[in-house]
Amino acid sequence: MEKAIQWNQQVDVLVVGSGFAGLTAAIEAGESGKNVVVIEKMKSAGGNSIISDGGIAAADTNLQEKWGIEDSQQMMYDDMLKAGLGLNDPKLLHTVVSNARSAFEWTIDVLNVPYLDRVDIFGGHSVARCYTPEGVTGRTILKEMLEKIRQLGIPILYSTSFRSIITDEQGHVIGGAVLKQYDYKADTGIPANIRTQRGIILASGGYGADVDFRSIQDPRLDGKIQTTNRPCATAEVLKSALNIGARSVQLEQIQLGAWSSPDEHGFGDGPRFADYILFQYGVIVDPHTGKRFVNELGDRKQLADAILQIGHPCIGIAENNAVKHSGWDISKAIRKGVVKTFDSMDDLGAVYGINPKALRASIDRYNGFVRKGIDDDFQKPIADEACPIEKTPFYAMRLWPKVHYTMGGLSINERAQVLDLRGNTIDGLYAAGEVVGGVHGASRLGSCAITECIVFGRIAGQNI
Ligand SMILES: Cc1cc2nc3c(=O)[nH]c(=O)nc-3n(C[C@H](O)[C@H](O)[C@H](O)COP(=O)(O)OP(=O)(O)OC[C@H]3O[C@@H](n4cnc5c(N)ncnc54)[C@H](O)[C@@H]3O)c2cc1C
Repeated sequence: MEKAIQWNQQVDVLVVGSGFAGLTAAIEAGESGKNVVVIEKMKSAGGNSIISDGGIAAADTNLQEKWGIEDSQQMMYDDMLKAGLGLNDPKLLHTVVSNARSAFEWTIDVLNVPYLDRVDIFGGHSVARCYTPEGVTGRTILKEMLEKIRQLGIPILYSTSFRSIITDEQGHVIGGAVLKQYDYKADTGIPANIRTQRGIILASGGYGADVDFRSIQDPRLDGKIQTTNRPCATAEVLKSALNIGARSVQLEQIQLGAWSSPDEHGFGDGPRFADYILFQYGVIVDPHTGKRFVNELGDRKQLADAILQIGHPCIGIAENNAVKHSGWDISKAIRKGVVKTFDSMDDLGAVYGINPKALRASIDRYNGFVRKGIDDDFQKPIADEACPIEKTPFYAMRLWPKVHYTMGGLSINERAQVLDLRGNTIDGLYAAGEVVGGVHGASRLGSCAITECIVFGRIAGQNI
């Protein structure tokens, strides 16, 4: 069988995808002297990684110690398991959590990624353990990864789309079929085959932008639901592995971002206000009743499910002290009209069609919870520095979920080896990042995807 194949190129390791998982894996494999090639179907590197906020989570770090935050691997594990509704693969979850700190430190010590001097908490984390690179963008991390890739002399073949996995008669992976000079829009290119001595690392990301594939998994998520993902987030690489007998897990577990606005496309600028300010210090109300209906610091699944259950966009409200205290610049969201400012609660209610009396009653009740530090209605943790919603201007944003992340994917073991339907490893096939399933179960906590990409990217690159 092998003799009939015409090989156009030979490498030790073929990495599919140039996001955080793929570049991390390539760096680790390259550092150990392997001849590595990265292929990327788009014209530039970065996938969803480059448009992310770059937030990475880890417990027990020096930054937490500096800010007096007590945390542990066990607490992080418990938080992720709780959000995942216990569907997480315990071994994979343990691997991510126990390697999170070293992955974060690797980005600093080996890649020289600069981080902001702050530690944030997002919904579902019990303490602040999320670190943000300068510029609040994944681009900051990607730039340093690409510099390392350049230093190691690892080529990235752009406009090269992975199509299928080539195996020998024993089922060992011996190479991949690709399309070079790939025209993304026409889905065409020139066929070529790359022979691999040690194997392939699949790091092709999730399928949040693949409407056909995602709506087979969850029929609610048809083309009418927007996504925060770039169009490259499609499932063909995942399917190529299924075609040779790889096992998938939890493909129907698809995360919606509850911090997104229906008033802008893609991820946009509203989420910075919603995720970093509003959920911690503000309230979400149903405009039809003026009432709160959820713990605003619940995890993403709880929030998105609660808003979808309401059935129409809901209104998030925060006040001036919270915006000032947070230190985040939300001027772009305001300029775009995604976040609006108001001098009174009645004006705010009028714009969103909320009954003013009902709205004032909800805000007064919530302010009482802030003053006593306990939310009797939804048990939202009230931060020490939280203020009642009193100081104008008030800030508000419409919230409606968008497809954000796919928790399901290929089944791997702790060594990042892809498993077949019987649970055996497929020789020469590894995977890392969002293409993998099982770590997060029913819901991924904020900043934990990048941790996973780097932890399993490193493991895949070291083990192949
Ligand atoms: C807007 C946004 C913000 C986010 N913010 C955060 C955050 O702050 N913290 C966090 O933890 N997570 C965040 N996430 C999630 C996180 O960014 C992603 O899960 C992670 O970056 C995925 O990395 P990856 O390397 O697995 O895939 P990607 O970064 O998506 O890279 C996959 C690459 O593979 C390429 N590819 C796909 N198919 C093929 C093919 N057939 N042939 C060749 N190449 C192919 C793609 O073009 C892409 O470049 C965010 C996600 C989004 C969309």
